[in-house]
Amino acid sequence: MSAICVYCASGPVPQRHIDLAAELGSAIAAGGHTLVSGGGNISMMGAVARATREGGGRTIGVIPRALVDREVADVDADELVVTETMRQRKQIMDDRADGFITLPGGVGTLEELFETWTGGYLGMHDKPVVLLDAFDFYRPLLDWLENLREEGFVSATALERLRVTDSVTRAIALSTSR
Ligand code: AMP
Repeated sequence: MSAICVYCASGPVPQRHIDLAAELGSAIAAGGHTLVSGGGNISMMGAVARATREGGGRTIGVIPRALVDREVADVDADELVVTETMRQRKQIMDDRADGFITLPGGVGTLEELFETWTGGYLGMHDKPVVLLDAFDFYRPLLDWLENLREEGFVSATALERLRVTDSVTRAIALSTSR
């Protein structure tokens, strides 16, 4: 059993993305895994946490005090950690996770993805970093990164460190195996 940290949107996004987050939460619970999330109860963040609990899974939310109201702290979490800063939030989410899955999201999600990914390929941690690229949401970003590789800005090793899939089942498998 693993603790899987999920990064995803906290804003108003199309329903198919909310449904995807719920599908991932259900799969986390079905696998007997624990969810580590940003501790909000709205948007995709709320959907993944609710679905995990509905499936009988354990949820850990980590939220900075300043965002408790804005992101509607997930008070139903089995464990809700309230931090003083954003950096503490990310550190605790990283420390508590055995692997990471990034869903569609905005700049906050991208920031979390890139920090975890770069930490991985630089050897700061050996936890799996998975991009669940449903609906080809990240295709333009992945194409751009491939161009950067061709031009030498990004190494093949760095690109290979990111595990990309469009399947929820595969994302769980990839995030729980070294
Ligand atoms: P977004 O993808 O912009 O909807 O943001 C997704 C989540 O990332 C939200 O819970 C944000 O509070 C969080 N977030 C944004 N920037 C940071 C950061 N620098 N450190 C930690 N969490 C962040």
